Amino acid sequence: MTNELTNLTLKSALDGLKKKEFSSVELTQAHLDAMEAHRDLNAYILETPDQALAQAKRSDEKYASGDNAPLEGLPLGIKDLFCTKDVQTTAASKILEGFKPQYESTVTQKLLDDGSVFLGKLNLDQFAMGSANTTSYFGNVINPWTRNDGKNSQLVPGGSSGGSAAAVSAGLCLAATGTDTGGSIRQPASFCGLAGIKPTYGRCSRWGIIAFASSLDQAGPITKTVEDSALLLQSMSGFDPKDSTSANKAVPDFTSQLGQSVKGLKVGIPKEYFMDGMPEEIVKLWNKGKEWLRAEGAEIVDVSLPHTKYALPTYYIIAPAEASSNLARYDGVRYGLRVPGKDINETYKNTRAEGFGEENIRRIMIGTYVLSAGYYDAYYIKAQKVRRLISEDFMKAYEKCDVLLTPTAPSAAFAIGENEDDPIKMYLNDVFTVPASMAGVPGMSVPAGFDAHGLPLGLQILGKPWDEATVLQVGHAIEKAAALNLSPYTHQESAA
Ligand code: GLN
Repeated sequence: MTNELTNLTLKSALDGLKKKEFSSVELTQAHLDAMEAHRDLNAYILETPDQALAQAKRSDEKYASGDNAPLEGLPLGIKDLFCTKDVQTTAASKILEGFKPQYESTVTQKLLDDGSVFLGKLNLDQFAMGSANTTSYFGNVINPWTRNDGKNSQLVPGGSSGGSAAAVSAGLCLAATGTDTGGSIRQPASFCGLAGIKPTYGRCSRWGIIAFASSLDQAGPITKTVEDSALLLQSMSGFDPKDSTSANKAVPDFTSQLGQSVKGLKVGIPKEYFMDGMPEEIVKLWNKGKEWLRAEGAEIVDVSLPHTKYALPTYYIIAPAEASSNLARYDGVRYGLRVPGKDINETYKNTRAEGFGEENIRRIMIGTYVLSAGYYDAYYIKAQKVRRLISEDFMKAYEKCDVLLTPTAPSAAFAIGENEDDPIKMYLNDVFTVPASMAGVPGMSVPAGFDAHGLPLGLQILGKPWDEATVLQVGHAIEKAAALNLSPYTHQESAA
């Protein structure tokens, strides 16, 4: 159930608003109707229709008076990891149910300042820990795409920004915010046939985003097109003195290189990403990507990232270590849930045992273990050293090339329940996305093809630090060459 207005890209909706082809109230109402019709996807934890329509009305007035901002009147969905003033923010956890922040995250404030309209808060894996959006306290999200085998199994949208990806794909918002710690923008974008970029660490402020692993967390957009990603990232980026890891760097025009030829660009193919047992269709997709770029005049070069195989194990030391520290603040005293006990210690224990999900507890236990006095050097310090080597791998590779091209994920979307029994299997989803997170370099997923069941598959473009513009340029070239029909509804009709 989509209509013309919910099929628009961010850019085409912006053009339509400027030309007064429709109003922001109409555009917003169309999305609110689609949200209601698609509640079965469970993409939103909270819908905020009254706020959205009030914002849309204000935007229409701005258009009438001619002082419209860059994203004026565009309805967006916000991952429920971003604190939104006076609007419930949960991180998809019971421990934060009912929490209404007294402040707005920097990134969402920037989007509001640029005139966008917020439709509601999007579902995610609890505290952004997961790759399938199955760990949310508010229930799993369903991918609007289904396999063309006639069985109609419900598929995961990827995670942790699964609500964001499902909502954009199904037309329940024009675009959405996501966050990416080890792949949570890129992998769901790949699973839902969307574009998504994790910028360089430090590009977007983390202030007011509920922290998972502070040295890895980055905000970014999930959108229908590469151009939309550039537009939204533009608004989300910029120095923020409230975040000590935010970089004081000028934000370039991310749209400036879109459509420019990739002729002469050097595209590196890291040989370590050819993993044993990699599905044939993923290898084929990767080769197709190379051919497209070569045909456009790019030079394909072989490069090596020798420490790739240590990225995932190292990530699963560093991310839980930081998570265990960040999640210490949820104690039943300051925010959300409180389950009283006979004394303060028992209150802590009761609250945390009942408030956190299983995956959160697993990570807290791993994290406190690797940070404990006896194991700190053996695990945490060692992992930090390996992380440095992983970073250096990238910097060496970038002496030979401008960007890297890899698959985004080792598979297409899988069925709900699959991979659920074995956390390690679930962690393998991020094998191609985690290294760039460890190195802090920008990475984007762009839809590039379909698997044997008609499900979307993404290719990943990784760039030099602060060079999102080239990542977007190459992503745009792939998007153009692939020329896919990426509506989950009409694609299946045409495939049937
Ligand atoms: N799937 C990874 C994890 O569970 C990454 C999540 C993320 O990027 N937020 O840690």
